[in-house]
Amino acid sequence: MRPGNGRPLQGWRWAAPAALLALFLGLAPLACGGGGGGSAPAPAPPAVVAPTLTGFTPASGVVGATVTLTGTAFTGTTRVTFGSVPATAYSVKSDTQVQATVPAGALTGPLALTTAGGTATSATAFTVSPSPLPTLTAFSPLVGPVGTAVTLTGTGFTGATAVTFGGVSATFTEGSDTQMTATVPAGAPSGPVAVTTPGGLATSAASFTVTATATLDLSIDGLYLTQGTQTYPASVSLVAERSAWVRVFVKANQTNTAQPAVRVVFQAGTTIHTLDIPATAASVPTAINEPDAAASWNAAVPAAWIQPGLTVLATVDPAGAIPESDRTNDRYPLDGTPQALTVEALRPWKIRLLPVTTADGSTGAVDASTVATFLTLARRVHPVPDAIDAALGPAMTSSASMLSSDSTAWSTLLDEVTAKWNVDGQPAHYFGVVGTRYDSGIAGLGWVKKAVAVGWDKPATRAEVLAHEVGHNFGRLHAPCGGVTDPDPNYPATGDYAGGHIGVTGWDATAAYPAPKAAAAYTDVMGYCDPDWVSDYTYKGVILYRKVYPLVTDAGAAAEGLLVWGHLEGDRVVLQPVIPVTAPPAPPTPGPFHWEARDAAGRVRLSAEFQALDVADAPGGKLRAFSFIVPLGTVPTADLASLRVTEDGVERARVARPPLRPLRVGQPEAPVQVAEEGTGVGLLWDADRYPLLVVRDATTGELLGFQRGGAGRVRTDRRDLEILACDGVQATVQRFRRRP
Ligand SMILES: [Zn+2]
Repeated sequence: MRPGNGRPLQGWRWAAPAALLALFLGLAPLACGGGGGGSAPAPAPPAVVAPTLTGFTPASGVVGATVTLTGTAFTGTTRVTFGSVPATAYSVKSDTQVQATVPAGALTGPLALTTAGGTATSATAFTVSPSPLPTLTAFSPLVGPVGTAVTLTGTGFTGATAVTFGGVSATFTEGSDTQMTATVPAGAPSGPVAVTTPGGLATSAASFTVTATATLDLSIDGLYLTQGTQTYPASVSLVAERSAWVRVFVKANQTNTAQPAVRVVFQAGTTIHTLDIPATAASVPTAINEPDAAASWNAAVPAAWIQPGLTVLATVDPAGAIPESDRTNDRYPLDGTPQALTVEALRPWKIRLLPVTTADGSTGAVDASTVATFLTLARRVHPVPDAIDAALGPAMTSSASMLSSDSTAWSTLLDEVTAKWNVDGQPAHYFGVVGTRYDSGIAGLGWVKKAVAVGWDKPATRAEVLAHEVGHNFGRLHAPCGGVTDPDPNYPATGDYAGGHIGVTGWDATAAYPAPKAAAAYTDVMGYCDPDWVSDYTYKGVILYRKVYPLVTDAGAAAEGLLVWGHLEGDRVVLQPVIPVTAPPAPPTPGPFHWEARDAAGRVRLSAEFQALDVADAPGGKLRAFSFIVPLGTVPTADLASLRVTEDGVERARVARPPLRPLRVGQPEAPVQVAEEGTGVGLLWDADRYPLLVVRDATTGELLGFQRGGAGRVRTDRRDLEILACDGVQATVQRFRRRP
């Protein structure tokens, strides 16, 4: 170090700006560091790395297309050229990536990129494709005031340089090669819309109509799917695979003559269905009027579309053809998110209609060709899938007589059809059809919460009777109408529900035309009034019941058992003669009653706890009954001598075998005299000893008929029969072979 001014020369020289250094040296400052060094040389500038351009994609494109350049040291890019024509738009994404837009007038040739470190040129050429002639195929909306955002659809929009409405330039944003948005400019007349691109000019075929600012506002107030009944807004679940109608309630803020279409899009999983519903009325209503089909946009929805996971989205005037002050409320739901619907996948409904021959000699008029006529109402008002498994069931003979409207006869009929249902293994819903000799009175009877009912065959009312009794089977009590003795205490009583009316607008979803049912004009199927439809109250109740209870169970393996059946008369339990059966399990509903069978020594050999269930529509109040099978296990029926029912330890019924009477001279040994008859067999026996006869198919064990009273007929075409003479506790079996 040299002594002197005490300042280290090196340090000073490094810190001095070039101009100050020049002044100190008595020289004019130089524009740049080259040359004016004097005795002190200029410092070397910081090293700047030269860029490299290793590739680009795509290899070709039209004016306006975006090209991505890759390489190194792109930071600080000052220029990108396409065949020497500089790009007017480029952006440095990173030190290794730049995106540039192909400029107007670009030439095919290498790309070049310049930074402070130099210029890099691509090894290969970029091909400038000729811009295609653009097309403008559609725009939406079709009308609107100045300031309306219009979506243009077409092709070849890339690089667009102008959009005009009626020749007046508009501002626009380029979305893609096929779609862009432009704003209707001030001063624009009505006329075609045009787009200019490097490829040329596209003009729309249609004119955009510039309107004064609209005051009409359309909105969707609500939407629902109905499969028979629905509330507003929708609270009734849908049933999968069941026909529906969609109703869209469009509302206007002022009187109008608008006739907008409505588009409804359904989606379940990846399956999308679209319905376009035209206007049917001359204007859009200003208030919601549910019972008026013309006040909503309605369309049938195929059953197959109704699946769990279904969503729905509706738009009024999807083409934007009607000037509106507010388009943001044209969708439902308002935010454009499809609405999820609750769809229940309920089990299919299987029902068999049994033609029943009664002791008066008549047979219920039902055959394979008329089964459907019994179900016309039930399928409309009950929540079941469209595809009902309905068929003619096995024929049977009942000991009941339908000569008059007799409550005991009807309950016997229901008991016997139920006995057959249990012995058959509860394979389906059973509905016994009878022909009555009277026209006014009891028309049907059904268990509450057990899948067996009976009804008459009269064509004018049989469908109503079946729908009503099946409603009981599905757990419903009576709607308060027409003098029912035991109304459902929970049936809504106010508004349009009063007097057993249906409460909310019904709709026949199976009809090919809009078919609303005004709430005040229809009464619930579970009352005794006409005309019949279904309330949302009843319908929801049946959905709940069908979700929870199978009604028809999978039959287990058949086993030996005793059919125990009967009903309650006040405090008394009336036991029907037990029937030995070979049948799948049919256990009782557990309850307060105790049934037991004892042998001659008084020992309990079999027992069961059971509940009596309600049977609806018996005149004069409630009827309660029971029907179940007790497995015999290893107990021989021959050991049984008496039956007893108790409730809380109090005896309610007792049945003992009648004392054996000595055979009289000449009396046949067999208890029943059986005679061949054309359509079955005639039976003659001692009814005091055997209060009940049961006839069954000796080959299949199928139960064919019941008889009481000492003489009767059982109608059957079977050849090989077994006749059980039931004494109350045991049964004597005898065979009879009919002539071939
Ligand atoms: Zn009823």
